[in-house]
Amino acid sequence: MSDRPVTRHTIFQNSLMTALLDGIYDGEMTVGELLGKGNFGLGTFDALDGEMVIVDGVCHQLLHDGTARRADLGARSPYAVATNFVPRIRRRAPRDIRRADLSAFIDDMTPSANYMYAVRITGTFSSVRTRTVVRQERPYRPMTEATDDDAVQEFTDVSGVIAGFRTPIYEKMISVPGCHVHFIDDARTRGGHVLDFTLSEGKIELCPGTDLELRLPLTSTFSSANLDPEDLDEQLHKTEIKD
Ligand SMILES: [Zn+2]
Repeated sequence: MSDRPVTRHTIFQNSLMTALLDGIYDGEMTVGELLGKGNFGLGTFDALDGEMVIVDGVCHQLLHDGTARRADLGARSPYAVATNFVPRIRRRAPRDIRRADLSAFIDDMTPSANYMYAVRITGTFSSVRTRTVVRQERPYRPMTEATDDDAVQEFTDVSGVIAGFRTPIYEKMISVPGCHVHFIDDARTRGGHVLDFTLSEGKIELCPGTDLELRLPLTSTFSSANLDPEDLDEQLHKTEIKD
């Protein structure tokens, strides 16, 4: 086996998922600063203006209509996770595998469920179903309402990369527990927050994370946010899984 054991590796996070759920959609961290924390990651932009994916050191903005563009280095983010991706664990994916089955396959690849993992899936997809948040106007609504405006897109027979994080359940007050991944095609022109997919053929790479660097905003909206909602599990389900 060529896999190396888990070694110390930092995953950086800007703000909290609970803050985003509470409608804190203005960030103080720029894309330029975020790229200083990693060449790989995901998140969103101020006013929920699209989904973010960082691959190969480039930050992309995935817009409501399913299109993608290179993000402005001065754009700000209210929530993002990033790391310098080191593919320490690698496998060929079984052919024609659906998301649910691939999740179980990835679970089996991990040496322990108790670490964080950056996840990169590269290959050809017979289908990828995504949704994308739409830019919000003030006063901001909580995310469970804002995501009612989401657009769902279906991409078929497309090559690209799915990038994101597998996060332990104990982090659910901080991040998105479970697998949270975004898609962008090879041409870097289309993508979104992944709901489901079928991977025709491709490879899976994992980068284990042992250290979390958390940056909390200094804004007054963050200071006064409610970060302990009673229905957190339902809110996470509605905004991130959306079924
Ligand atoms: Zn997302």
